Amino acid sequence: RQAAFRTDLSVLLDQVGTGKESLSFMKRRIRRLAQQWATAANRLDVKLEQRWRDQKKILVHVGFLTEESGDVFSPKVLKGGPLGEMVQWADILTALHVLGHNLKISMSVKELQGFLGVPPGRGSCPLTGPLPFDLIYTDYHGLQQMKQHMGLSLRKHKCHIRVIDTFGTEPAYNHEEYATLHGYRTNWGYWNLNARQYMTMFPHTPDNSFMGFVSEELNETEKRSIQQNKVNNMAVVYGKEASMWKGKEGFLQILHRYMEVHGTVYYETQRPPEVPAFVKNHGLLPQHELQQLLRKAKLFIGFGFPYEGPAPLEAIANGCIFLQPKFQPPHSSLNHEFFRGKPTSREVSSQHPYAEQYIGRPHVMTVDYNNTSEFDSAIREIVRTKVEPYLPYEYTCEGMLERVHAYIQHQDFCTPEPSYLPANLSRPGSAGGNRITGPLFVPLPNSTAVGWASNVTAPSAWPPLSSLRLLVSQEGQSCVEACNLAGFICEPAHFRFINNKEALRGLEVQCEVVDSEINHILPAFSVVRRECGLQRDPLLFSCAGHSPKYRRLCPCRDFRRGQVALCRDCL
Ligand code: UDP
Repeated sequence: RQAAFRTDLSVLLDQVGTGKESLSFMKRRIRRLAQQWATAANRLDVKLEQRWRDQKKILVHVGFLTEESGDVFSPKVLKGGPLGEMVQWADILTALHVLGHNLKISMSVKELQGFLGVPPGRGSCPLTGPLPFDLIYTDYHGLQQMKQHMGLSLRKHKCHIRVIDTFGTEPAYNHEEYATLHGYRTNWGYWNLNARQYMTMFPHTPDNSFMGFVSEELNETEKRSIQQNKVNNMAVVYGKEASMWKGKEGFLQILHRYMEVHGTVYYETQRPPEVPAFVKNHGLLPQHELQQLLRKAKLFIGFGFPYEGPAPLEAIANGCIFLQPKFQPPHSSLNHEFFRGKPTSREVSSQHPYAEQYIGRPHVMTVDYNNTSEFDSAIREIVRTKVEPYLPYEYTCEGMLERVHAYIQHQDFCTPEPSYLPANLSRPGSAGGNRITGPLFVPLPNSTAVGWASNVTAPSAWPPLSSLRLLVSQEGQSCVEACNLAGFICEPAHFRFINNKEALRGLEVQCEVVDSEINHILPAFSVVRRECGLQRDPLLFSCAGHSPKYRRLCPCRDFRRGQVALCRDCL
C-alpha cells in the first residue's frame, strides 16, 4: 500500500495513552507542534512529486518508559530530569504518523508481547510465525526486553529493528566477539546489528544513522518581533537541575557584571543553594514558556553539563547566542564518568559539538572557560552582537520528515548485500604503481560504475554509488575526520565498494602483502611496512576507527546543505 501524509494528529494522541507525566509531556509537545508538522507534511508532499512510498507496518516500543525497565524517567519529568529523550520520542512518533505509516505503540512488555503475538507469561517462548511488522523502533532497554521475550527469534528478525541511541554505538563495540576480545565490551553494545540500525540524536559518528528531533520554527513576523523585543543584557543559564550549577559561582559572578541572569532550575520550596541570589529563577518551565523566555534572552549559557541536549538548538532558533565551554582535552568514555561504559570512543570537544561544528559563529561561541579574560570578552561581545534566529534544516519538521522518509524507503538491512569482498588473497604481490605520499583524493565519475572496481554496478545501492568519493586518511586519522576535512562525510554503506584490491590499485598503493583480517580499522595500509589490509567482516566497517601507523581507505560521500544524512541523489 501507498503511504499518504497525515496532518491530523488526533489518532496519534489517542495512541500515546495517559496516566504518566512522561506521556503528558509528549502529548503537550505533539499538540504544540501540530501546525508546524502539518505545514511540513504539505511541503514535503509537493517536493516528493507523487513518488510512490510504501506504507510500512511499524511498531514503536519505548523501552525506557516501561515499568519493566524501572521507568526512572517519568517521575523526573516535573523535576528537570532528562527531557531530551522524551522530546525525541515524541518527534519520532509524530514523524512516523505524519508520513502515513501503520503505527503501533507499546510502552510495556505486555503490550509488546501482544503486538508481536507472543503468548504472555511464557518466558522466552519464541515468536513462531512471521514478524507482523516491517520495522520496530526501540531503545537499548527495549532490545533487552525483546531478547528476553522473543528468545531465539530475535536473531531471525533483528534486521527489522532500529535502536534509538542518543550518543551512538561504534562498530567495534557493537560486534560482540570483537568487542569481547579487544576491550570494547560495554554494558550496552554487542548486539551485532548493522551499526546504521542505531539512530542518534545528533549526527555523531556517521557509522550510525542520524535520527534527530525537531525544534520550533519561526515565521518572518515572529522573527521580526523577536528581533525587536530582545533584551540585550538578558542571559538564561542552560541547566534545569541544581547539580548542573555546582561550582559555577565564579562564572556567574562575571556574567552578572554584564547581564541579568535567569535560570529554569527545578526546586521544591526553596531556592537551591547552588543558585546564587542574584539569579532570577523561574523554576522548571513548561516547554512553551521556556521558548518565550528564550525569545527575550540574548544569551543562553552552558556550564558543561548536560551534554548534547536539544535546548541549545531551541535557544539558537529563538535568536539567542549559545556560549559554551570548550573541552581540552575532549571528554570521552576514557576520561569522563558520564561517557564511561557508553559504546563509543567519540571525543566530545565541547558541551555541544554539533552546535560548535555545524552551527558556529555568530550563533555559537565555544571558549575556554578556564581563561577568565576570554570568557569575559565573549560575554561583552555577545551583548554587542546582533544575530538572527537560526535553525538548521535537518532540525525542522520538514527536514526530519524528509530524512525519516528516506531511511524508511531505502535502508534495508534484511536483504544480503553483495559484499565485493577480497576474493583471492593467497598470492601476495604489489597492488601496483607508486608509493603514496600526500593525502589522496579520488573523485569518482557520476555513474553507477566505479571505475577501478571491475565495473561494479549496484543499481539498488543506497546511498547511490554516484555519491561515493574515495579518500585516503593520514596516519592516525579516522575516516570521520578525513572525509570532514575534505568537505564530505564518511559513508559506511560504501565501504563494501572500496574494500578490494582494485581500490588499492586505483590509489596506486604499494603493497607487499594484501591480507584480509578482522579489524575495525580496515581497509587500511601501512606505508612503512608496505602492508595492506582488507576487511573480512562487513559488520566491522567503521568510519570511527583509526590507528597511528595506518592510513585508511575512506568511503566519503557528498551531502545536502543542512541535511547531512542525505546525499545529493539520495531522495
Ligand atoms: N525544558 C523545559 N523546561 C525547562 C528547561 C528545559 O521544558 O525549564 C525542555 C527543553 O525545551 C528541551 C528539553 O527540556 O527540549 C531537554 O533539554 P536539555 O537540552 O536540557 O536536554 P536533556 O538533558 O534533558 O536531554
